[in-house]
Amino acid sequence: MLRIDAHIHFNADSPEALAHLERNDLKLLNICVAQDSHGGWRKDAGHWIALARAHPNRFGWITSFDLPRFEDEHYAEACIEGLERDFHDGAVGVKIWKNIGMEVKKPDGSWMYPDDPLLTPIVECVERHGKTLLMHIAEPLGCWRPLVPGTPHYGYYKAHPEWHMYGKPENASHERLMEARDALVARHPRLRMIGAHFASLEYDVAEMATRFEAYPNFAVDTSARLGDMLMQDSKKVRRFFLDFQDRILYGTDYVNTKPQAEVNPAVAKNDFAYFRELTDSWWAYLTGTAKVKFGEQENEGLGLPASVVEKVYFSNARLWYPGL
Ligand SMILES: [Zn+2]
Repeated sequence: MLRIDAHIHFNADSPEALAHLERNDLKLLNICVAQDSHGGWRKDAGHWIALARAHPNRFGWITSFDLPRFEDEHYAEACIEGLERDFHDGAVGVKIWKNIGMEVKKPDGSWMYPDDPLLTPIVECVERHGKTLLMHIAEPLGCWRPLVPGTPHYGYYKAHPEWHMYGKPENASHERLMEARDALVARHPRLRMIGAHFASLEYDVAEMATRFEAYPNFAVDTSARLGDMLMQDSKKVRRFFLDFQDRILYGTDYVNTKPQAEVNPAVAKNDFAYFRELTDSWWAYLTGTAKVKFGEQENEGLGLPASVVEKVYFSNARLWYPGL
């Protein structure tokens, strides 16, 4: 069965990596992350396009758009031109990242949220072209809590304290960001929208169920949140996967954007081992019933029926990202 990793940033251009994808019948959906307002992030786009052109059955890609240039009255138009070029170059979706809501401030000093009217023409362009909006809005709830060793995101916030929001009341709350995201989803009922990382509702599958019931145009990907799933009762998570089997896309969020020829072979080997661990741990968790350990978390596998496994690993990605 072809498996699609629908959330990844992997420049898998080495013969070893390509052979691995072939052997395991894997397709990767590579994603751009716009971290600046002048196209610096497009370096990755170049890699993703080249991979998708050379190996269309192994790679697809998702573009993004520059962060706001508030002084530029043609900002939205320029973003739309870029998106239209990217759609022509095969992009199946557009990503909006957590910096919208958590980092970007408007000229008046207030936070810019993802439902800001400045972005409306850009979002409408995605909808007009029948593409999908991938939203990484906010962070796991743990981002707003004290750091606890052994919890799933401890390592990330230890390494990236700039993104750890505990004790920073001047920043947006998790709740406020969820509100802005939900407002955006409600405003575009004909646009397919995907909440990356279980839509930052990883702490309780019931929170996602509420959104699925409210918004038929909304789905989630599993990326980078295996530990959070392992922290919840496997019976409850299994029920969630069965109930919403058409709305969940498998993804790892493995990050390795360098052309592999530029990576030291020993490091590349290590990196690749981690990619395999991620892939194998998810497979064991979703398909098996034995205990799965990932990081400090451990719980029973979900043992999903084959028909649901097929949707999560393949059909849902095709359904929610047409053209992939
Ligand atoms: Zn990612």
